Amino acid sequence: MNEILTHPSRIKVPYTWSAGEALSRFFKALRDEQKILGSRCLKCRKVYVPPKKTCGTCFVECSEWLEVGPSGTLVSFSQASYPSPAHRVLKPLFGLIRLEGADTSFLHMLGETNLQSLKIGVKVLPVFAEKRTGSILDIAYFKVIS
Ligand SMILES: [Zn+2]
Repeated sequence: MNEILTHPSRIKVPYTWSAGEALSRFFKALRDEQKILGSRCLKCRKVYVPPKKTCGTCFVECSEWLEVGPSGTLVSFSQASYPSPAHRVLKPLFGLIRLEGADTSFLHMLGETNLQSLKIGVKVLPVFAEKRTGSILDIAYFKVIS
């Protein structure tokens, strides 16, 4: 049998990914109004943040939109211990945040705090970026308020 060899390499492929209908509406609200929107499933009433077009449980359209937060509860947290070009700061803190009115949690960076002072259950608020472009980074980070 012939041995098949591999050749490790890297390719760089420029790519533009569509945010889709639901996330575009979500990002525009962040950019233009500094509001965080969720979408509600018409069958099970679950509120998704970030919003989904279709409920993953019921396969029903999530066509009811509502503003959530801005405050939320820290559900979990962690700190990246390795550098990455994707990180804005060295050893960023990440939090899983359940916004008021939402049934799902989402991941974002935490700021104005440190790992030792974080506790599950603390209340957080978003800090919006001064220059917003229509991305999840229009929320610069969440800060602890209690
Ligand atoms: Zn549902």
